[in-house]
Amino acid sequence: MRSGGLSALLFTLGLAGIILIKGDLLLPPAFADPRSTADGAGHRLPEFVPQGQSLIRSSEQDATSAPKAGSAASNSDAKAGAITADPVLGMPLSETSSLKAEPGLPEWPKFIGAKDLFGAVKKPAPLAARAIGYYAHGCLSGAVPLPVDGPAWQEMRLSRNRNWGHPELIALIERFALDAQKFDGWHGLLVGDIAQPRGGPMTAGHASHQVGLDADIWLTPMPKRRLTRQQREDLQATSMLDSTGLAVNPKVFTSKQVALIKRAASYSEVERIFVHPAIKKALCVAAGTDRAWLGKVRPYYGHYYHFHMRIKCPAGVSGCQSQTPPTGDDGCGKEVDWWLARVRPAKNPPVPKPRSVNVRPPKPPIMLSDLPAECRSLLAAGPDPVPVPQAALMTKAAVHEALEKAAKARMAFAKAEGLPMVPANAAAAHPALRPHLHKTTTAEKK
Ligand SMILES: [Zn+2]
Repeated sequence: MRSGGLSALLFTLGLAGIILIKGDLLLPPAFADPRSTADGAGHRLPEFVPQGQSLIRSSEQDATSAPKAGSAASNSDAKAGAITADPVLGMPLSETSSLKAEPGLPEWPKFIGAKDLFGAVKKPAPLAARAIGYYAHGCLSGAVPLPVDGPAWQEMRLSRNRNWGHPELIALIERFALDAQKFDGWHGLLVGDIAQPRGGPMTAGHASHQVGLDADIWLTPMPKRRLTRQQREDLQATSMLDSTGLAVNPKVFTSKQVALIKRAASYSEVERIFVHPAIKKALCVAAGTDRAWLGKVRPYYGHYYHFHMRIKCPAGVSGCQSQTPPTGDDGCGKEVDWWLARVRPAKNPPVPKPRSVNVRPPKPPIMLSDLPAECRSLLAAGPDPVPVPQAALMTKAAVHEALEKAAKARMAFAKAEGLPMVPANAAAAHPALRPHLHKTTTAEKK
């Protein structure tokens, strides 16, 4: 990264949020279903990565952060997600350079979002297992961990403490791993992020994975050896894409990967699977006449070295919001082509922009008050309650107000300095005029 450090990370996170928002607006309604909110955003890490680059460390998992093109995978990149490519939907990373701090420029306010609270949780809430809310807007009680080692799997990136899930999901992952070993020639699975101990939004990566019903599975087989803790942090993920980013690389994406994804789709519990559009395209070709399973497999940002498996709300659980079932269409026509058309080659290096002041407020985080009310009690549950500072209880209206105030202060600064504002139509940047930014997640989002 050219400008490492926390501010760069915060910035890229914010940028990714903006990209997502744009993406939501751009999506034709017919294809809107797989989008996450801010996971896919969320799974906010909206990149299609060309060049078959490999990723290291925390980069996987639907990276929310969008590091600079061409960056070497340094340690700080690792924290931010070392994906080296442009995001797709029309906001090149190079725009980051126009947002470099101007001396004296009023900063955007920082909020204590639900991600900061749930991200600090170390242990599950010892209550009945319940997925509370929606995949991209909720929390999880009674989570159980996927054992970090199993007869047919190894959990990766242990430092993240995201190997928690609803017991039904954990049981399915274990079964899936054993089935893949027995029937599909996989020595075992490498399992990525599932959820935090009490679910909820995450400080980095993923818009979804909040209710313990989503899991990321690597598309590279588990090695024969037991990886050490450190190796699980460092092992590079392998992109399944070729150098165009528009197709899979047949050297790494083979019939084994096809069989694995098909196996995952075969479980009745599985509601959706998300893969890179190029992988979806390859599956469409490989499926032959047996196509029923393809309908569950949807194109989405990222997901070129892992796929995302989502299960339905467990039966008999109240408060879990399920997703609209797939239509039954195999998705191999217009939908996958629409997605592929959005895959763009990375611009490298980014073009520096002239000085300007960004007056468009960043997307506010999901606040505790935005989540189902039970999520607050969940944080308070013993024996390891998570303190909730007053500032974390800000209402949506107060958050809007603070952002609007900051936008006005930045506009005043731009005027005083004679700098152009981005966007030029500053009024459009007012949060009050952009209600879509604060809309809660719907079932049509990832
Ligand atoms: Zn995922």
